[in-house]
Amino acid sequence: MQTDVLNRFLFEDLHARGELVQLDQSFKQIVENHNYPDAVKQLLGELMAATCLLTATLKFEGEIAVQIQGDGPVQYMVINGDHQQRMRGTANINGQITGTSLNDLMGNANMVITVMPKNGERYQGIVRLEGDSLAECIEHYFATSEQLATRIWLYADSSEMLAAGALVQVLPDSEDKDQQMLDFEHICQLTATLKASEIFQLPAEEVLYRLYHEQTVRVFDPQSVTFVCGCSEDKCLTAIANIGQTAIEEHLAEHGEIKINCEFCLKQYHFDREKLKPLLKPN
Ligand SMILES: [Zn+2]
Repeated sequence: MQTDVLNRFLFEDLHARGELVQLDQSFKQIVENHNYPDAVKQLLGELMAATCLLTATLKFEGEIAVQIQGDGPVQYMVINGDHQQRMRGTANINGQITGTSLNDLMGNANMVITVMPKNGERYQGIVRLEGDSLAECIEHYFATSEQLATRIWLYADSSEMLAAGALVQVLPDSEDKDQQMLDFEHICQLTATLKASEIFQLPAEEVLYRLYHEQTVRVFDPQSVTFVCGCSEDKCLTAIANIGQTAIEEHLAEHGEIKINCEFCLKQYHFDREKLKPLLKPN
């Protein structure tokens, strides 16, 4: 079966659309080497699936960052994705993790969704993290920002290191809104029967057939999901330039070099005076 794949589909007669994402390697690559506790892997998996589903709703080229920040032992958690489903993510743990619920991990938290179009202004939506489901929180975001009824289901398995998700959303094109909502509820009831074992183990076509065989569903070309960190020496140099020449000089005097660790892929970058030359004015 093909994994690390996002499928978009359309309910031809019901004025609704859907997405299905199934993650394996790309999720493993995001968490590998980080030594996250299981509960954190689990939540990162759900957040990654959610971010894939969200980026797939973009109607333009660009990036989305979905960040949860709170006062719990996990300070923040973020997944970045773009319209090509290139994903990266990280979690910052700063305390003893004693439980596995969303609240145990994140405490009082907000979800910050930042949309960064390639051409255009970035915008941000902030949703209070209430209840114990990431899916609900994102549904709330859609209700307030897009005003389109949207339902999301998220799945993660921290022992098998698999994550997946499903989304259904009404289209704005219906004339009979009451009928559309009835149809939408029906699709949601069908989708809610989807088991983790099915979405983890069955090819997308089979999942779709099991759920919606009584509907006319048009499936579009699948899109691959990949882990791409995107960090580089150039980007590090830009970040270093931002701290200013005085701070660079001070840091070099004290440590002999500037070291940057990529928090996503854990790659280490080292910059000595020679490499920093373009940033330093000659005396
Ligand atoms: Zn990196």
